[in-house]
Amino acid sequence: MAEILTDSDADLDLAAGTLRAGALVAIPTETVYGLAANAFCEAAVRQIFAVKSRPFIDPLIVHVHSLEQAGTLADISHPFVKRLAEAFWPGPLTLVLPKKKIVPDLVTAGHPTVAIRMPAHPVARKILQRADLPLAAPSANQFGYVSPTTAQHVQDSLGDRLRYIVDGGRCDCGVESAIVLVGDNPVLLRPGVISRERLEACLGVPVALGKGLMETAADKGMLAPGLLKKHYSPRTRVELFEGVPAEENAAGTAVVWQRRPADPGAGTLSKNVFWLSEDGDQTTVARNIFEFLRRLDGMGFSKIYIERSPDGGIGTAVNDRLSRAAAKL
Ligand code: AMP
Ligand code: MG
Repeated sequence: MAEILTDSDADLDLAAGTLRAGALVAIPTETVYGLAANAFCEAAVRQIFAVKSRPFIDPLIVHVHSLEQAGTLADISHPFVKRLAEAFWPGPLTLVLPKKKIVPDLVTAGHPTVAIRMPAHPVARKILQRADLPLAAPSANQFGYVSPTTAQHVQDSLGDRLRYIVDGGRCDCGVESAIVLVGDNPVLLRPGVISRERLEACLGVPVALGKGLMETAADKGMLAPGLLKKHYSPRTRVELFEGVPAEENAAGTAVVWQRRPADPGAGTLSKNVFWLSEDGDQTTVARNIFEFLRRLDGMGFSKIYIERSPDGGIGTAVNDRLSRAAAKL
């Protein structure tokens, strides 16, 4: 099992020193927990792929402590970079930018662009500052499984393959960052809690919805069919519903509502009924979704039946993850 580190100065120094020495450390961010390595060190980055069983064609996001540091990795001259960074950094927004030579091809899966984010989580920021290295960090879980939002989730998934996990509490956002391909015609490659609507308001131009790199690769036949369509998936089968579930009372089926359903009488809601929030608030739903998937996955249900979020805003990010969790291979 991995050793759980705290946010004490001594533990943060240990985490930063471990990263500087070319080893992996799982770190908290405001989106999900990340499996971090020195982005400049190919051997360290290679370990990320090995530990996660992640295919090399899936590029990593590099985490930085400042816009200036981003400028050492990528061309940040497009005016939208400064505008987005001023509005949303530090925070759950990743920018895809033309890469500089210094970034290993392994990090970008051979692409001429690199994905960069400045996280807001205070512990992530301290580690980035102490290590003073850009950190490549995908979610700290087995490739394809549900992303971790607590240190214990990381321990459950990868504890036997890791030395250290830094505990920074529960992740505030609960889903991965929004990813924007920066250019005159920006493209949202992955929805997150920073919604397309907010990005458009910031930039004053339309932000197209685009396919992520892996979906594009799947379309081109570079991947086994559905490999990335199916992602964020518990072992238990997931199905989605809108309105009324078809089999609310089927034994063995967990029914998960967006908001607390009306209780027909004191405590008579059945044991297989759950809700992602009290009132349908999508910030709360996003924060809870992966934790619910993990918890329900361990409860022996034969099916997890989940109500879709309303589309738009953060709901779009939740539905993106839900539809991938529900996708069949
Ligand atoms: P994660 O696995 O949550 O760390 O997210 C990594 C994802 O970021 C990848 O699966 C891609 O969808 C996206 N990404 C990373 N680098 C690039 C890039 N250079 N161009 C486009 N998308 C990227
Ligand atoms: Mg991931």
